[in-house]
Amino acid sequence: MLKSLRFEQMLDQLAPAERAPVVFLGHGNPLYAITENEFAKSWQQLGEKLARPQAILCISAHWETRHSTLVHVGAMPKTIHDFYGFPQELFDVQYAAPGAPDVAQDVALMLKNHAAIPTEEWGLDHGAWSVLRHLYPDADIPVFQVSINRDLDFAGQLALGRDLKALRDRGVLILGSGNLVHNLRAISREVDAFDWAQEFDEKVAGFLSDRNFADMADQDQYGSLLPQAHPSVEHFAPAFYCAGLVDEKDQLAFFNDQFDMGSLSMRSFIYY
Ligand code: ZN
Repeated sequence: MLKSLRFEQMLDQLAPAERAPVVFLGHGNPLYAITENEFAKSWQQLGEKLARPQAILCISAHWETRHSTLVHVGAMPKTIHDFYGFPQELFDVQYAAPGAPDVAQDVALMLKNHAAIPTEEWGLDHGAWSVLRHLYPDADIPVFQVSINRDLDFAGQLALGRDLKALRDRGVLILGSGNLVHNLRAISREVDAFDWAQEFDEKVAGFLSDRNFADMADQDQYGSLLPQAHPSVEHFAPAFYCAGLVDEKDQLAFFNDQFDMGSLSMRSFIYY
């Protein structure tokens, strides 16, 4: 299969890289944190092949703030179980990675033009730990989150990402966690992928392939597809922070490019 071959090639090329890649993961169902499936398997393979980062900065769909961008600077981020109606096993998960207070404080300074504020009032939400525990099961790499500022439009999120580029050369892995299509109201066990969901997903994939991030951030490009694919946009937002960190030298690979329950795109991407 061509797609998996591309993923395998990317994995083979990763090891020698010193500059940290930028990764966006479609995280999907919180249960995938404790489930063995093909998506989780890709996350595990990626974690095994990635050069060990100095730290991980995670931008998750599940930490939204208003009026400012918060940067978690705590030394021991707590595991936040920000969902309900799931089995106890999922509430029992602890991801006990240390924080990265020094890097996080630097990030707050790097983002001073974006109303960034350091805070100890967070930890790791499930958008972060549900994938991290597959990527780095030993939880031994320092990790911290930066919030999504709801006051920023996509172009603003792209610009914020751009101001974090220097982190890649310091070996900080930037991990966006969301979904390129995320409509929980439309989920279906009967439909593999809705037409509108596929159309949106392919449009975004095209922008990512062409590095056409300006159009990707332009809502007019999507018309009525946008509110269908994202009744609220928090799961799309991390893709813009990631796109801001890309430069010409990067190669792109997609993986997990499948739909779950008809209206959740699990498509993930890495620029490396
Ligand atoms: Zn989510």
